[in-house]
Amino acid sequence: MNCLDYRRQLLAGSGEGDAMRVHRLGCAACTAEWAQHGAFEEALRGALQVAVPEGFVERMARAPALRRRRFLAAAAGTLLAAGVGGYAWLARQDPLAMACIDFVMKEEAKSIMMGPMPRDEARRMLAGTMPLEAVERVGQVKHVGPCPFNGRNAYHIVLTVPQGKVTLLVMPGYRMDGPRRAAKEGMSAAVMAAGDGSVGIIGTDVAVVDSVMGALKA
Ligand SMILES: [Zn+2]
Repeated sequence: MNCLDYRRQLLAGSGEGDAMRVHRLGCAACTAEWAQHGAFEEALRGALQVAVPEGFVERMARAPALRRRRFLAAAAGTLLAAGVGGYAWLARQDPLAMACIDFVMKEEAKSIMMGPMPRDEARRMLAGTMPLEAVERVGQVKHVGPCPFNGRNAYHIVLTVPQGKVTLLVMPGYRMDGPRRAAKEGMSAAVMAAGDGSVGIIGTDVAVVDSVMGALKA
């Protein structure tokens, strides 16, 4: 277990195992990371308590996880069939996608602690770029709030899918040719064109990032 393994497993969200704890107790950097992550999880739980969308529990009951998983798998298959697979892009690190990873590693917890925005306002603000309804079909929206990113107003969404947590950065009015990609320190990001702007998707697993990208395009 080294610092990179520790951080990767912590961000994957499956809790701290024995090997991780042993490393953390001897490592000041990872102890700081662990404390910040704890505050993040706490904020996320708080956000979830006040912001469960109307009808969510009913929708979850009607849409079992298995169906969501199949939907995501099908979306990933579509990307592979289109020749996107192979991850040759890993050699070309895009600066915007890299900035998305930096956001998750350095700014995400702070952004969540600033508090969520009202869901109906989020629906309105995101409608032209990445409708919140489309995001809700892919996973559970745990947080949505405005955040400055890349010198513009953007919207920060924390999404859980059956495979784990992903972050979306919705950038209205910022058009680009996509997708752009980057990976570092156990995180992977893709930025794709969407509506009148673009969306960054960041997670610890490149296959999950791709699945979510495919599902959001569908
Ligand atoms: Zn460490």
